[in-house]
Amino acid sequence: AAEEIVDAVPVYIVGTEPYFPPFEYADENNSNEIIGFDVDLINAIAEDQGFEIEWKDLEFDALIPALQSGQIDMIVSGMTITEEREESVDFSEPYINAGLSLAVAADNEEIKSLDDVRGKVAVVQQGSTGAMKADELKSEGIIEEVIYLAHVSDIVMNIHSGRADFMINDLPVTKSYMVQNPGVIKIVDDDIQSDSYGFAVKNGNTELLNMLNAGLVNVQADGTYDEIMGKYF
Ligand code: GLN
Repeated sequence: AAEEIVDAVPVYIVGTEPYFPPFEYADENNSNEIIGFDVDLINAIAEDQGFEIEWKDLEFDALIPALQSGQIDMIVSGMTITEEREESVDFSEPYINAGLSLAVAADNEEIKSLDDVRGKVAVVQQGSTGAMKADELKSEGIIEEVIYLAHVSDIVMNIHSGRADFMINDLPVTKSYMVQNPGVIKIVDDDIQSDSYGFAVKNGNTELLNMLNAGLVNVQADGTYDEIMGKYF
C-alpha cells in the first residue's frame, strides 16, 4: 500500500552537556529525559520555526569539535559567547546573561574576593570560561594550581573535600547548586566577569543561524521566553 507523502520536517542534532542545572540536566523522575531552561527555549524555537530536535550528550569540551566535524548541527549547552570561540563557530544572538562567580567552601573565612586567591588552588570545569579565567590567574603567577573536571558537581566535591580552595563557575549554575545543596559552598564574588550565552552553529551555517535568531525574537515577543524564565529562575 502506498504511504501518504508528508512534508519532511528537518531534524537537527543538538549537542549538550546535560549536567548543568538549571540550563540542561536529567529529569529526576526520568533520567533519560533532559530538562532545563535551554531545553524549553530551544524546543519553543524549534516549534516556532518548524524543525525537530534530536539530543546528543557530550562532554562540554567535546561540543565545538563535534560541531566542526558535523557530528552535531548546533550546541545548546549554556555556552558563553567569547571572541575566541567566535573563530571556530557562529553564535546566535545572546539569549541570557550569565557571568562568572567565585565560590568557596561555606566555612572558608580566608577568601573574600578575587584579591585573596594568591597561592591558592582553583577548580573549574574543563573547557569552560571559568577555566579560561583560572588559566589567566595561573599564567600571571597569582594562583598555584588549576584542577580541571568534567562536571560542576565534581568541582563542588573538590571544594568540599578541601582539595581545592575556590571555584570559578557561571553564577546561575552555582546559585542553583546552592539552593539544591545548602551549606556546602558560598559565593564571595557574583560578578568577576559579565557574559551571555548563545546557541552555536557551524561556521557559515547561516540557514540554521537565521532560524534560531528569528525563533528567539518570536518567543521573546509572544511571552514564551518570560514563561520559561519564570519556570527555572
Ligand atoms: N558558560 C560556560 C562556558 O561556556 C560553561 C558552560 C557549561 O559548562 N555548560 O564555558
